[in-house]
Amino acid sequence: MSDKVNLSDMSQEQKREHYHKVRMERKKAQIDAAIARADTEKGLLLVITGNGKGKSTSAFGMIGRALGHGKKVGVCQFIKSRTDTGEEAFFGQQDNCEWHVLGDGFTWDTQDRTGDIATSERGWAVATKMLKDPSFDLVILDELTYLLSYDYLDKDVVLNTLSERPEMQHVVVTGRSAIADLRELADTVSEIKDEKHAYKNGIKAQKGIDY
Ligand code: ATP
Ligand code: MG
Repeated sequence: MSDKVNLSDMSQEQKREHYHKVRMERKKAQIDAAIARADTEKGLLLVITGNGKGKSTSAFGMIGRALGHGKKVGVCQFIKSRTDTGEEAFFGQQDNCEWHVLGDGFTWDTQDRTGDIATSERGWAVATKMLKDPSFDLVILDELTYLLSYDYLDKDVVLNTLSERPEMQHVVVTGRSAIADLRELADTVSEIKDEKHAYKNGIKAQKGIDY
């Protein structure tokens, strides 16, 4: 900061400007140091969990980012079976995006644990192929958390496959109630809080917002 400042000659407004500048200079030094420290490049594992809206849409936002940079993306949608979503219609037709809907419907609709496990294993086989293929820069495992919290898939198999994926491959896992071991393994974990949701006021799922 400029050392010779005479505060007594300053108006209130000038003092305010001055203090703001001092604060921002300090902040910039801290941020620059943090940026300089964060110099590692690696494929990230991100977990977007919690009860609030915005988990899958956050993952879909990253698809847009990755495609915009010319990267190749794979998407595995577990649990859900609908194929009329805006995200699939849009991203699924991009050359660099491979999209698989691998669910059979919600657990309360199928009411069939054995069937759900078989579906999960078939889906996991598709995901495993992507997680072993370094040509995929980003893999989205949408609603995977339920397959672990319901014990539909072997936790160790899933966690090992995630750990042993190609070094630069990014993976995003979404869904409520992510298990502790998955959170532990992840580089970034966001818990989306449910403060309010239109659905609770009787508003049905809206096209373009909810699917
Ligand atoms: P989105 O796909 O909109 O980002 P999400 O992935 O966070 O939602 P899911 O649990 O996958 O949440 O929910 C799927 C559907 O349920 C979406 O249509 C979403 O808008 C809706 N939803 C999400 N959170 C809530 C909530 N807290 N209450 C009611 N409905 C919700
Ligand atoms: Mg979701």
